[in-house]
Amino acid sequence: MNKFKDGIGLRLLRYVFGCYLIVTILVTSVQLITEYRHAKSNIFNQTYELEASFKDSFISSMWSFDTPQLEVTLAGITKIDIVAGIKIMTEKNQILAYSGNVVTAQSQILSSSNLSEPGIKKIKLIQADSAERQTLFEYKFPLKHRQSKSDPLKLIGYGYIYTDVNTIIARVKYSFILIIINSLIKTAALWLFFLYFINRFIAKPLEALANAAEALNPEKLETLSSSKELDNVVQTKHNDELYLLATNFDQMRIAILDKMTVIESQKSQLEERVLDRTKSLSKANDELRHLALHDALTSLPNRTLFKDRLEQFIEIGKRNNTRFIVASIDLSGFKSINDNYGHQIGDLILVEVARRLSSVFRSTDTVARMGGDEFYALLALERGDDNDVETLAQKFIKVLESPILCDEKSIPSILISANIGTAIYPLHGEDSASLIKNADMAMYHAKNSGIHHFHYSAEEDFRLKRQSQLAQDFNIAIENNELFLVYQPILNLASKRVTKIEVLVRWQHPTLGIISPVEFIPICERTGSIHQLTQWVFQQACRQCKPYCDVDGSLSISINLSGRVFSQPQIPLILENICKQSNISPFNINLEVTETTAMEKPDQAIDIMNQLTGKGFTMSIDDFGTGYSSLSYLIMLPVKELKIDKSFLLNLGKNSEKVIKAMINLAHSLNLKVVGEGVETKELLDMLTEMECDYAQGYYISMPLSADELHTFLIPTNPAQNTLNTAPIFTESQPI
Ligand code: C2E
Ligand code: MG
Ligand code: MG
Repeated sequence: MNKFKDGIGLRLLRYVFGCYLIVTILVTSVQLITEYRHAKSNIFNQTYELEASFKDSFISSMWSFDTPQLEVTLAGITKIDIVAGIKIMTEKNQILAYSGNVVTAQSQILSSSNLSEPGIKKIKLIQADSAERQTLFEYKFPLKHRQSKSDPLKLIGYGYIYTDVNTIIARVKYSFILIIINSLIKTAALWLFFLYFINRFIAKPLEALANAAEALNPEKLETLSSSKELDNVVQTKHNDELYLLATNFDQMRIAILDKMTVIESQKSQLEERVLDRTKSLSKANDELRHLALHDALTSLPNRTLFKDRLEQFIEIGKRNNTRFIVASIDLSGFKSINDNYGHQIGDLILVEVARRLSSVFRSTDTVARMGGDEFYALLALERGDDNDVETLAQKFIKVLESPILCDEKSIPSILISANIGTAIYPLHGEDSASLIKNADMAMYHAKNSGIHHFHYSAEEDFRLKRQSQLAQDFNIAIENNELFLVYQPILNLASKRVTKIEVLVRWQHPTLGIISPVEFIPICERTGSIHQLTQWVFQQACRQCKPYCDVDGSLSISINLSGRVFSQPQIPLILENICKQSNISPFNINLEVTETTAMEKPDQAIDIMNQLTGKGFTMSIDDFGTGYSSLSYLIMLPVKELKIDKSFLLNLGKNSEKVIKAMINLAHSLNLKVVGEGVETKELLDMLTEMECDYAQGYYISMPLSADELHTFLIPTNPAQNTLNTAPIFTESQPI
């Protein structure tokens, strides 16, 4: 049987069987009716025969009034199976004798109908002695008698023979059963016959076609390639519609198979290409990701990856309570390598530096290039004490120490060194930004201090922050009139009179109070504001001291000059112009240049100083004895005076006394005047006098004075004198 519950085979079977069943029922019914009729007419014929056989006996018994004989005869007849009852009536309809089931006067007749057979009626009745319904065939026949042959027949009564309908039914019952069994067997045989043939010739081939159609699904290419299902149909070779359909279908399957094979091969080609593309795409992606996260030159992690790793280190640090170092590494003098040997060599150096740094690190560490010559490192720290950090920093310094040899013969081996700043998580920052900032700060400090490594310290951080705030704030300090000048008298030890005044600048910061020039001048030198400051000091000093110079033309105003201004070639002209504007002679102005700054770029310094002295300014070497003075240069400087640094007098010992004396002698031998700075006591003043020092400057003589105080100091109480009161104050008070 096919797999369909409501397949075409079953449906056909149902229809055929249905039709056959109806026909069978009709035919069987006709057969049954015919049989019934036949049985009925047989019974009626027998009834007729009974009439013929016993009629004469009934007449003779009636004629002779032998009723008992009649009753015996009737009882005998009733024993015949077809006879349900028999009765004899007189011509006046009185019952003469009867036997079995008969219609009597007591019987209740429900219906009565004549049949086609002569003399036969069908009667439905209820007998008086039972409530049972009966259906009887009643055959009525006349009983006639003639006394002699010549006499006419005379009606003497009627005979009634009754047959029960059940008798007919009993007769036909077996025939009925046989007919029905016969029909059923025929029906079953036919049904099985159809079942087999419909299944074989229609349902199966159709199912094979359906299966073959199902196999046309491109996803079941293997099924499509085997035509087993169709072969069964095709092989039957019945030249019928199904065969035609199957062969056409098979051709269609082969065509689809061909197409599918082509499509499959194209698909697999396409898949291969897609796979290839995906591979190359993911390779390109990897390269792109590598490029995005690594420095193209050195292949080290770049800023993005470094920050990412730093965040990971912080996460691990938080979770495991571990510490690590962030190191900021900056190569010193890399710019000059680039400038001198070109960028190609610069790149080689960077690659080599990256290689060397990487060789020091453990696999857990990270070294990254942030750009230029800036490198950063992340190093797990086991103990985390400062020695450990120092050891690691020394490792980097050492690995960079050996000279880098270039392939090019024209280029000598290059020495490289680095400044390293380190900060520890979580001591010096708990987030990436502050760790990087603090490591940078430490690195800048190392760079500025000329040391290889500096480990972050909060104090240094504070100092740098203050410096950067001051640098920022200084931009508007002049504009906001926050700067002012103080003046410190310098005593001529021979005349015991003040013949010189040193101009010292002060900064009244709006929130931080008075800031010493020792703090803000180096900042100005770094930021470049020193040029602006120098001009402002010069203008203010000239303007404020002009009246005193007018009174005493020999008064010398000493103004400090940062060596940085020597980088400005126009500075002699600028200063000269200010003097002109203030109407003060350059002869009244002495310029103090510190020993160290004057020696930074000696040729440039000598040139500018020569120009300045050429315009009438005099010059002094300030803070003499603290730097590395080269006597050969010193003698070339157009200076008239040496100012011995105050540290010699402030930390006076036996040796420094000798040094002071030696310096005074040296200055005198070079024809230079000498100023002793830091005279805080009478003893020091006396000592300098005894050593034949020319000038003395210090708190003992006078504190630095405000412009008003200077005025009070210099202008005599009696204006008529018209001279400056240059007598020393000799005070012990604290400096401003
Ligand atoms: P300097 O030129 O050597 O100035 C002398 C410094 O010594 C002054 O400090 C002064 O107040 C201090 N001083 C004077 N006598 C004594 C003393 O007896 N004992 C002690 N302990 N100190 C004494 P100040 O004003 O703080 O200036 C410091 C430095 O700042 C100056 O050293 C100078 O190099 C620089 N400076 C000051 N004003 C200017 C300026 O306008 N321009 C430039 N470029 N530098 C300036
Ligand atoms: Mg000075
Ligand atoms: Mg000085």
